[in-house]
Amino acid sequence: MLDVASKALFQTLSYSRQLKKLASRYGMSGGRSFARRFIAGETVAEAIAAVHDIQNQGLHATLDYLGESITSIAAADIATREYLRLIEAVDRAGVERNLSLKLTQLGLDVDHAISVDNLRKILTAADGCGFFVRIDMEGSAYTERTLEIFETVWRLGHHNVGMVLQSCLYRTEADFERVNALGARIRLVKGAYREPKAVAYQLKSEVDAAFLRLAKRLLTQGTYPAIATHDEAILAQVKDFVAKENIPLDRYEFQMLYGIRRDLQSGLRDEGHRVRVYVPFGSEWFPYFMRRLGERPANVGFVLKALFAER
Ligand SMILES: Cc1cc2nc3c(=O)[nH]c(=O)nc-3n(C[C@H](O)[C@H](O)[C@H](O)COP(=O)(O)OP(=O)(O)OC[C@H]3O[C@@H](n4cnc5c(N)ncnc54)[C@H](O)[C@@H]3O)c2cc1C
Repeated sequence: MLDVASKALFQTLSYSRQLKKLASRYGMSGGRSFARRFIAGETVAEAIAAVHDIQNQGLHATLDYLGESITSIAAADIATREYLRLIEAVDRAGVERNLSLKLTQLGLDVDHAISVDNLRKILTAADGCGFFVRIDMEGSAYTERTLEIFETVWRLGHHNVGMVLQSCLYRTEADFERVNALGARIRLVKGAYREPKAVAYQLKSEVDAAFLRLAKRLLTQGTYPAIATHDEAILAQVKDFVAKENIPLDRYEFQMLYGIRRDLQSGLRDEGHRVRVYVPFGSEWFPYFMRRLGERPANVGFVLKALFAER
């Protein structure tokens, strides 16, 4: 329950303009500013440098140009062009070609057809240079529309694209069947958004049990699934399952967020597992940052310590 309350509080705070202004002033201003723990930087160059660093550690990366809940066609157009520029820059830099994006960033709230067009522009450019593109899953108000758009682009022949499913939602077992029937790749997460009990489990124990159940189905029936969690207990059970079922190490990957449980990231790598780090960057980092605080309120202490250390 505390988990739900904390997510709710930080989700509400993430709408505060005052807080956003304040955080933006200090969060990324210096090399050691507090938001840098979770955000790779504000520029493409900083993001690419972070990917270099991650690859040098024997890990993999997916780049997320931050932005969501865009409210105008012009802003969706700018985000789309930023992704196209990112594809060119990554291509030139020769680092790993893997992106994550959100449909509300491409205009889903403004105009459904335009968001599909924007996604197709990105997928066409990405297909041309061998990128894999993951469509992140947002709050439950977007689940059905996100799946429908995913199915549309898949039917149009874009197969270097994958989905995310959230174990907190009751509907996910059925969505798993639907996405898996296409042979598409699924990233499994617990779900970062506050959700009502009409659609989602409210207890952490229920979300965790659903995660493990789905992870096992993905590992045996899925196409190169991504098991995305920092939960040590779940990771241990997944590793036991993989060993017991003799699932080869190249049939799945673990994923974790930039700056979170780096000890687990390197530990899994040392054991021979493939680990991908989700690398967010860009100036619109505030909502993403607030979700990370909501997942672990102890992070607030970390932020305050960093703030006082900087003065
Ligand atoms: C690669 C990746 C992609 C994701 N994509 C999406 C998406 O598209 N849609 C979506 O809704 N959610 C997404 N998420 C977020 C996810 O839904 C969870 O909110 C997040 O991963 C925290 O849950 P957990 O599985 O780590 O377990 P939890 O039970 O929340 O945490 C387990 C342990 O992990 C550590 N931990 C977790 N979060 C933090 C944190 N913020 N700071 C410090 N330590 C922490 C702590 O040690 C904690 O005890 C993604 C997560 C990952 C790793």
